[in-house]
Amino acid sequence: MAEGANVRQNLQNIPSIFEISAAETLDNLIYPALSKIFDYLGLRLDFKLTDTKRFREEISPIVTWLLQYMYLRKRGSSFGESFYGLQRTHTTTGELLTRQQELISASVLTLLPYIERKLLTRAQNHEAYAWEEYLLKLFNAYKASKAIHTFMYLIKYAGSHSPIFRALRLTLRYPATPPKEDKATYIVLKLLEVLAFFLQFIQWWYSNDQRRKVGGSLVNPEPMEEQPDMLKKSNTPKGDCPICLMKIDNATACSVSGYVYCWKCIITRLKNHPTCPVTGYAITMEDLVRIYETN
Ligand SMILES: [Zn+2]
Repeated sequence: MAEGANVRQNLQNIPSIFEISAAETLDNLIYPALSKIFDYLGLRLDFKLTDTKRFREEISPIVTWLLQYMYLRKRGSSFGESFYGLQRTHTTTGELLTRQQELISASVLTLLPYIERKLLTRAQNHEAYAWEEYLLKLFNAYKASKAIHTFMYLIKYAGSHSPIFRALRLTLRYPATPPKEDKATYIVLKLLEVLAFFLQFIQWWYSNDQRRKVGGSLVNPEPMEEQPDMLKKSNTPKGDCPICLMKIDNATACSVSGYVYCWKCIITRLKNHPTCPVTGYAITMEDLVRIYETN
């Protein structure tokens, strides 16, 4: 009888894949939330000491690491896992994390997404070296192996849901007893969780607000009356350059009309025709704006 109760207890302790992925999603929100704060500081306090984008790219991961390490020390789980009441324990013994496992866990939680973000940005800007492209492929291979691992976990063939957990000999469980902590720690950790949600809400609100503004008032001007040297907008496939009809290279917007061309195409054309090729409005070099895409 007692044995039966014990087995049931153990089964109940195992989280489903939904809770695990929800916790992972929440962990992945920390970086954008922090970036949002630094963006906000940069915008509102006129933070001109250093380039805001660079600043947050380097500071956000450090703050994320500290936050994750604090949660791992206090609760034996990452920020997201703690939110869903999960705990990292040793696969076979069920013991809590050692100091070394805490440090590795915090570093893996922070460093892997950081490196991947950097590589992706470089690859998108066509700046990545061959070894960086190779590393990016390794990341994709890891994701595929993780998917397989998760499937194995689902069919109860693997004890943990990811290769990293397996390598660290860890798994996620619901703790039989809630972690003991003093009131101050509890309040600080709880406040951080509330703050994270508040920030996500602000971000959602802000992006909706922006979308409304863009949809409502910004309309490209209609082309002028047909002129012999004008290009037909309808001839251009969506997302392509109206001049060369190919994928836009070094996107450059014409601030008078809002149309986007390749930098090289519009500059070359501007020498002979000082007009926006689609709308026919007069433009000069000063009306061209390079568009930098960020992630
Ligand atoms: Zn072009």
